[in-house]
Amino acid sequence: MNKFQGHRNSIRKYVHGWLSVAEMVRWYNDHEMTICPCCRGRERQDHILRCPDAKAEEYRKECFQEFWDQLEKITEPRMLVALKEYVRRWIQYPQYEAPPVNETLVHAAMQAQSQIGWTNFTRGKISKKFISHQ
Ligand SMILES: [Zn+2]
Repeated sequence: MNKFQGHRNSIRKYVHGWLSVAEMVRWYNDHEMTICPCCRGRERQDHILRCPDAKAEEYRKECFQEFWDQLEKITEPRMLVALKEYVRRWIQYPQYEAPPVNETLVHAAMQAQSQIGWTNFTRGKISKKFISHQ
C-alpha cells in the first residue's frame, strides 16, 4: 500500500467515524486507556484534526491538501480561499464562528455550513451552497 492509499483508507475511516482511536478501542476493551499515542493527550475521533504532534500535523496537512485539491475542482476560487481560512481557524479554535463576510454568497454558504457543522464538513457533509455559487 502506498502513502496515498494509506491516506485514503484513514480518510475513509475518519469520514465514517471508524478510526480506531483510543476512545473507540476503550469502548471494546475497558483496559485500554484513552490517550493518543502521538501526543499523550485525550484521544477522540476529532482529535486527529487537532493532535499537536509534528508527524500527525504533517499527515493531516497532506490529507487536507488532497481534500482541497478535490474541492478546488467544484468550488469558486474566492469561496475556496474563505473555506480554507475558516477551517484553519476552526481547527485551531473549535469554538470559532464564521465572521461576517462582505460577499453575500460566501456568507450564506458559511452560515449554512455552520448549521450542518464543521466536523461534518471535514467528513464530506458539505453545504450545497458552496457548489451552487459557481
Ligand atoms: Zn495526539
